[in-house]
Amino acid sequence: MRAAMRCPQCGRAVLWTVTEAGKRLLVDADPDPDGNTAVYQDGTGTYRSRRPSADLPVMGWERLHKPHVATCTPATRPAPGRPAPAVLPAGVADLTAYRRKTRGRS
Ligand SMILES: [Zn+2]
Repeated sequence: MRAAMRCPQCGRAVLWTVTEAGKRLLVDADPDPDGNTAVYQDGTGTYRSRRPSADLPVMGWERLHKPHVATCTPATRPAPGRPAPAVLPAGVADLTAYRRKTRGRS
């Protein structure tokens, strides 16, 4: 399972993780050695995140990521080559328009 997606605010690649408290936390998809959140993928494909501590430092199977709220920059221009999130990719049908067109044809 791929949990990677684009942030609707800034278009960057992000990952949904689940914290130890069971809350969802959005982090940057790319690991960052300066990050403060340890992330690993569990057996079901869920990304788990936690704060490393002196007692529980980053383990070999974990990677440091930055919480996306720290890097989200919605005001800046979208990264080159990445379509604006509001625009549907080529080949993807607008279902609202489709339903409108086919209504009453049953
Ligand atoms: Zn963002």
